[in-house]
Amino acid sequence: MAADVQRRVLRSTREIGMMRRAGLLVWQSHQAAARLVRPGVTTGELDKAIADTFQAADATPLFLGYPGKTPFPAVSCISVNEELVHGIPGDRQLADGDIVSIDTGARLDGWCGDAAVTHAVGTIDTKAHKLLTVTQGVLNLAIELMATKKMWSEVAREMQDYVESHKFSVVTDMVGHGIGQQMHEPPQVPNYYHESWVREDDFDLRPGVILAIEPMVNVGTHQLRHLSDHWTAVTKDNSLSAHFEHTVALTKDGPRRLTGPPDANEKADLPEWLQDEGQWFRW
Ligand code: MG
Repeated sequence: MAADVQRRVLRSTREIGMMRRAGLLVWQSHQAAARLVRPGVTTGELDKAIADTFQAADATPLFLGYPGKTPFPAVSCISVNEELVHGIPGDRQLADGDIVSIDTGARLDGWCGDAAVTHAVGTIDTKAHKLLTVTQGVLNLAIELMATKKMWSEVAREMQDYVESHKFSVVTDMVGHGIGQQMHEPPQVPNYYHESWVREDDFDLRPGVILAIEPMVNVGTHQLRHLSDHWTAVTKDNSLSAHFEHTVALTKDGPRRLTGPPDANEKADLPEWLQDEGQWFRW
């Protein structure tokens, strides 16, 4: 556990405030996409709503051009059903009963926000509904536990236990991350407990730590494979997968969702269509 303390950066209150601005914009972009989610909409249309939100704020999309075998070609990752993450938006129309994960991030005035949600499209079956509830539940649990646990591994262990107690599996090949002026910064933030990781890379939780926490949960196996587009990760057994993420700061007053909804003062700066809380997609 010694190595770790060097690897995570502690941010000042001012820096957390800057990241909140970026995070609130990311929240807003998710709201723009959420209100379009219905059978018949294309994943490209959802991506455009997010891109337009970032453009209007003069923010830099973090996913567009992300380096890989081919640079990522869109502003968001949109992954349907058995697709876990990194799906490429395009002409695919969503169908009644699908689940769709939307993941995006932006940099505003030098600071980053990153968040993901999985939506139900129309009416979904009981299993899919339970998957969304458990995945959102394990993210909420992790955020809550940041307030009371000393080391991240203690949080990760409870996350894994929670998911497995619902007979689902937690993805181990992909993890959350530190975030600041770059989207991906140390430390790695796993959603499961693993001895060797704990020995080498565990880190302590104290005010100023900012993490992108992003559990991915599968109905079947935790294993995954990649499609030939070089990006899309799908479950190896084609079972459903869900993904929820928030950028979270641990402050002296406890965990704060930097990509969460506005409080009363912040609301004043939002566009008119977002003034009505009843319209918000909550996660
Ligand atoms: Mg992330």
